[in-house]
Amino acid sequence: MRLSRLPVATQKEAPADAEIVSHQLMLRAGLIRKLAAGIYTWLPMGLRVVRKVERIVREEMDAAGGLELIMPSVQPGKLWRESGRWDFYGPELLRFTDRHDREFCYGPTHEEVITDIARRELRSYRQLPVTFYQIQTKFRDEIRPRFGVMRAREFVMKDAYSFHLDKASLDETYQVMYRAYSAVFERTGLKFRAVEADSGAIGGEVSHEFHVLADSGEDAIAFSNASDYAANVEAAPVPRPSGERAAAGDAMQKVATPGAQSIAEVSDMLSVPPERCLKTLFVCGDNDDVVALVLRGDHELNAIKAAKITGVADPLKMAGAAQVRSAAGAAPGSVGPVGLSCRIYADHAAALASDFVCGANEDGFHFKSVNWDRDLPEPETADLRNARAGDPSPDGQGTLEIARGIEVGHIFKLETKYSEAMQATVLDTGGKSVAMPMGCYGIGVTRVVAAAIEQNHDERGIIWPAAIAPYQIMIVPLNLPKSARVREASEKLYERLQQKGYEVLFDDRDARPGVKFADCDLLGIPVRLVIAERGIDAGTIECKSRREPDPEHIAADELDAYLDSRLGSGSS
Ligand code: ATP
Ligand code: MG
Repeated sequence: MRLSRLPVATQKEAPADAEIVSHQLMLRAGLIRKLAAGIYTWLPMGLRVVRKVERIVREEMDAAGGLELIMPSVQPGKLWRESGRWDFYGPELLRFTDRHDREFCYGPTHEEVITDIARRELRSYRQLPVTFYQIQTKFRDEIRPRFGVMRAREFVMKDAYSFHLDKASLDETYQVMYRAYSAVFERTGLKFRAVEADSGAIGGEVSHEFHVLADSGEDAIAFSNASDYAANVEAAPVPRPSGERAAAGDAMQKVATPGAQSIAEVSDMLSVPPERCLKTLFVCGDNDDVVALVLRGDHELNAIKAAKITGVADPLKMAGAAQVRSAAGAAPGSVGPVGLSCRIYADHAAALASDFVCGANEDGFHFKSVNWDRDLPEPETADLRNARAGDPSPDGQGTLEIARGIEVGHIFKLETKYSEAMQATVLDTGGKSVAMPMGCYGIGVTRVVAAAIEQNHDERGIIWPAAIAPYQIMIVPLNLPKSARVREASEKLYERLQQKGYEVLFDDRDARPGVKFADCDLLGIPVRLVIAERGIDAGTIECKSRREPDPEHIAADELDAYLDSRLGSGSS
């Protein structure tokens, strides 16, 4: 494409509300424009990247035996009532009524619709297993849309659903999809990791997330330094520590801790390290009550694990200040487990503490030298905390390291959650009607684009992996308006490279070289070719890879070999 024909200007500055690099660069490079909160237009340059990702995804889904279809984005509420999710899904589901006052929603995901298709089309075990997929726009009324297309309200997802006669077949397809996902992210050229995950609101037991590794990622992932073990910190179990509780020392003592509220302040004031200062967090219980969760001061509560404990509300909700005061008689900064009448759970590590400090349930006071069993009853224990770097890996091999990741894909085994609720059955080999186990597999296509930039950029702009770059090559002629030789050489090269199958941007604008170079870097085009009088005389072309610091002057007849080495011979 000739850049002079693109009516989208690049920008030096990003709008102040763009918090993360990918959002800033996507706006500056003219890939997207915001229409409303979490709702974006994909401009031509951005759409090309989306299409590249879609193409890779489609090819791998087809190779894995998936059948592509497109389901409607507007879905009848009736179906969602059948699955039970109309009430469960909450305000992320955009609901509306049509002129006949019938309930509808804009699909945030398509389990209901595909299960409806399956129950109508699938009759016999002979038709199984089958995997359907689509690449389509979703709408989720996210509570905090942010980071541009990374957490948007309207976004493009590839969602696939598989149907099976039995669990063994589901397990097999799950593995096929796991490999297909690995192939997708390999091919995008991104550094990624597959991790064990919590299944969240969609249901089912087993799940894996695929994360693009980037420091700005919203998720923390834990992985072993000695094995393949990797899990979202949300889901990484912390094994019960081995070892015995140390013997109790001095008698329990109440001490004034004026103004000290946080663990750091209390630890400083009493000169007791944070790991021996226990914190007590009150969360809402199942029936208007509260439950106290006790952790070591240096550990972090894991909300997903806590919500799974009997008697604790799911999703986890922290108790309000008034509830805390009525349960403990003090403000949150001075509460502790001694003398509480509500249910108490201690994290395994907190239960192992002795001679610890905790709030005295009296404003401005703490207890010192507290011991379970001696000063308060032995607690019920649970795994309540986040895994952290240095913890032993749950698989027993090595220790954990923590990295940040952006979730770009998620695969689940739904089992028969939807097929039972919606009576999606087939006749098995013995003629008996059985509900089909299902799998479901998502990729955030538009999020992949943002994640790619989060992982690949520098201070000058985007650095696209060649496989998903909007264009592979940018031709930058110098002094184009004045030099007929430069014009002719660039036009010829532009023609020739396109004929070879490369996607080429031709910067035929009447602009200064500095402006052209800056835009080329901002747009992240993998290879820049500069055409100038001097090179024409010398029979060379100045070639620069976006990833390398310096240009090289390549003899014109070695250009193809250079492009092969930087872009792969498989031009599109
Ligand atoms: P998250 O935890 O990020 O909210 P999720 O668990 O709700 O994700 P899924 O329901 O598994 O996501 O959706 C499949 C994929 O769709 C996700 O892995 C992610 O890549 C993408 N996705 C989900 N929500 C959004 C969003 N608001 N904007 C862009 N992509 C999204
Ligand atoms: Mg979500």
